[in-house]
Amino acid sequence: MAKIPKKIRTYCPYCRKHTIHEVERAKKNPARKMSWGQRQFERVLKGYGGFPRPKPSGEKPTKKVDLRYRCTECGKAHTRKGWRAGTLEITEE
Ligand SMILES: [Zn+2]
Repeated sequence: MAKIPKKIRTYCPYCRKHTIHEVERAKKNPARKMSWGQRQFERVLKGYGGFPRPKPSGEKPTKKVDLRYRCTECGKAHTRKGWRAGTLEITEE
């Protein structure tokens, strides 16, 4: 099990220096109904013929972590390179 502290000191690209960052899990935003890609996707699904993409071959045992690092000085969030982990725990200290 991978663990990451809730607060880490790392580089903030907005402040251009090292500051304390709060680690938060990224949430999936719902798809915009009227975006160009979504309208095109619905057009493809219409009528005969099924799903336009091949079925996924299966679940992977581990997934890449999706985290946001929010700077406590400027309040802006940035991302870092994700790594693979089965379960991720955000710990206090
Ligand atoms: Zn900052």
